Amino acid sequence: MNSDAGVRLGIRSAVVMRLRIDAEMCTGHGRCYALAPEVFEPDEDGHGVVLHGGEVPAGLEEIARRAANNCPERAITVEE
Ligand code: SF4
Repeated sequence: MNSDAGVRLGIRSAVVMRLRIDAEMCTGHGRCYALAPEVFEPDEDGHGVVLHGGEVPAGLEEIARRAANNCPERAITVEE
């Protein structure tokens, strides 16, 4: 069932935190994947990549938020 169907049926799905990295802004400092390797990984050039298709697994929201807040380029957007 997709989330729209869940809303129509009155089923409240868990809120999922999503992350996005602006590739133009990311300069590859690596703080995101150093602080939250469960959520980010480096690509072959050392730039950050969000794991899990951009969705933060339940229980990792705090560490994901901390990593986003510590990105020196402010390249990480948190959507909740
Ligand atoms: S901390 Fe920011 S600049 Fe550094 S790799 Fe991660 S997204 Fe890129």
